Amino acid sequence: MGPYRFDQLSPELQAIASDNFTFQNWAKTFRCSPELLFEPTTEEQVRQVILLAKSLNKPLKAFGCGHSPSDLACSPGFMMNIDKMNNLLAVDTKACRATVQAGMSLHKLHQVLRENGLALSNLGSISDQSIAGVMATATHGTGAEYGCLSTMIVDLTLITADGSILFCSPTENTDVFEAARCSLGALGIITRMTLQAEPDFKLEAIQKPYKFSDILNDWDAVIHSAQHARVWWYPHTDDCVVWRANRTTKEISRSGPSFLMERGYGFHAYQAMLNITRYSTYLIPYLTKLMFNTLHSQPVQVVDVSNKVFNFDCLFPQYVNEWAIDWKDAPDALRKLDKFIADNDLKVHFPVEIRFVDEDDVWLSPAYGRKTCYIGVIMYRPYGKPVPYKKYWKGYEDIMREYNGRPHWAKAHGQTRQDLEASYPKFDDFLRVRQQLDPQGMFLNDYLRRHVISSEKETARL
Ligand SMILES: Cc1cc2nc3c(=O)[nH]c(=O)nc-3n(C[C@H](O)[C@H](O)[C@H](O)COP(=O)(O)OP(=O)(O)OC[C@H]3O[C@@H](n4cnc5c(N)ncnc54)[C@H](O)[C@@H]3O)c2cc1C
Repeated sequence: MGPYRFDQLSPELQAIASDNFTFQNWAKTFRCSPELLFEPTTEEQVRQVILLAKSLNKPLKAFGCGHSPSDLACSPGFMMNIDKMNNLLAVDTKACRATVQAGMSLHKLHQVLRENGLALSNLGSISDQSIAGVMATATHGTGAEYGCLSTMIVDLTLITADGSILFCSPTENTDVFEAARCSLGALGIITRMTLQAEPDFKLEAIQKPYKFSDILNDWDAVIHSAQHARVWWYPHTDDCVVWRANRTTKEISRSGPSFLMERGYGFHAYQAMLNITRYSTYLIPYLTKLMFNTLHSQPVQVVDVSNKVFNFDCLFPQYVNEWAIDWKDAPDALRKLDKFIADNDLKVHFPVEIRFVDEDDVWLSPAYGRKTCYIGVIMYRPYGKPVPYKKYWKGYEDIMREYNGRPHWAKAHGQTRQDLEASYPKFDDFLRVRQQLDPQGMFLNDYLRRHVISSEKETARL
């Protein structure tokens, strides 16, 4: 069957459809041109689109903010975005819970929670994403006693491939709930969620420079040195920065580099210098040292509302790769990564970002059943231009595999279904639920076939 045309749609669906949409992710590393884009405003419209896709045997993929650094959200068939379904539906201030439409952005969620005296207990580096999007990939922040964001889901509503509206919780449609807490978008369209929050709070974050070798030798103490601790290591050096944040009642304040230093120098000048290193890669270690000495070796202290402290400026487009390993293995893995970079004379960008996540029981969470250290590597793309990264990624992934690493689902990686089956105790349960809910594979795409469905070996390797 050929492409389905806009003028073949019913007037009701034409009102929420467009046929000239190109999807591109934030890092501009993946794009696709679906036949039709749908932007529903109601659950009934979501159902109608699903039933149309089913009748035409078309793939249908939801996307949120397009922040996944992979083709996880891409589809050549139909695509759907539920950003317009972004309302607060109910709030229980006593239980610190809010029910929201899943197209709401995290930015808006912070606002509506705060209006009700609530806040999320943990967050990743940004809040641009949709709630459905972050939950679909078990997006995480940092904090030894804090799970990934998917652990905050109390219940959810999923519209499946046959148009059924399923309410899922630990007591209703239990298996679907467990699978859908980190669904990869493979089970259907999630339209609502109830989230567990906590009373609104401020954080005090203190950021200080250290010697990385000292930090690796004192690992357990670092992990538990704050409610939320993270480490940025500057490859090619023994420098790192440890960021520690704790709940506080102190007044809002800030000390550290000026806005001009952070934006003018830390963003614009840095991007220009990185661009020069595209032609002279040997300069990268010198640039790393320069940026550390001039910007990151100064202590920084911030007190602010929690989401502002959790979030960071992630600068400009980038290639990223991030895997989760048992946090006790992280010092060995990081020493191996350092050696791999040196032995291969690679010139790589800072930082290597190291975060800690409590173990959980979300079937496809990379922190399932183990206290987790996420190790993230990055190669910036100054002005959106390409830089070599594949040899770095290959060495990094091989090291992560030695420690039974699990890749962040949102990020392009090289794990096959066999690797993932061996690593996730509940992987086959997830596949069973997916097969029951979507036997025709409406919600599958290339990413899911390559990494999750295909039983052919080596299809996914970098
Ligand atoms: C600058 C930057 C910083 C980041 N920081 C962090 C971080 O600190 N920690 C971390 O863990 N990750 C981080 N990420 C990754 C990011 O959180 C994930 O990629 C997240 O999934 C993106 O959400 P999104 O709304 O953009 O979803 P998309 O990327 O658009 O989609 C992601 C998945 O969600 C599915 N989906 C979307 N909407 C629905 C729906 N309604 N129903 C069912 N499925 C749906 C899609 O099909 C897809 O599978 C970062 C990414 C960027 C670009």
